Amino acid sequence: MDCIFCKIANREIPTEFLYEDELVVAFRDIHPIAPVHVLIIPKRHIASVTELENRDEKLVGRMIITAKKIAEDLQISEKGYKLLIRVGEYGGQEVGHLHLHLLGGARLKEDIGPIK
Ligand code: AMP
Ligand code: ZN
Repeated sequence: MDCIFCKIANREIPTEFLYEDELVVAFRDIHPIAPVHVLIIPKRHIASVTELENRDEKLVGRMIITAKKIAEDLQISEKGYKLLIRVGEYGGQEVGHLHLHLLGGARLKEDIGPIK
């Protein structure tokens, strides 16, 4: 399957990992929108939150715990940060492999709303 995040996870595309375990990997976003912008993804291909099943509870928990640990490692935890998952067309999802954005390092804008 031609999935860019699968290729990153299985090292077909060389990318520096900030974190890796048996379930997830984390790496920096190629077009950061905040001083810290990290993506946490499952190693297994899951297209979106819409594809999650009950058996994925452990995986989803691991993604959030990983974000928390990376935020601590990068020293943005004390001031705070955002975690974001886009879902589907209306959610603005562009890459069809589940990913959790960790955004921080500055006070972030709150500009979510319907596109007029
Ligand atoms: P989303 O809009 O939530 O689907 O986010 C996709 C994110 O993936 C965007 O922030 C892109 O900048 C990022 N991205 C796309 N390709 C790469 C890549 N090869 N390495 C790192 N980040 C990427
Ligand atoms: Zn994939």
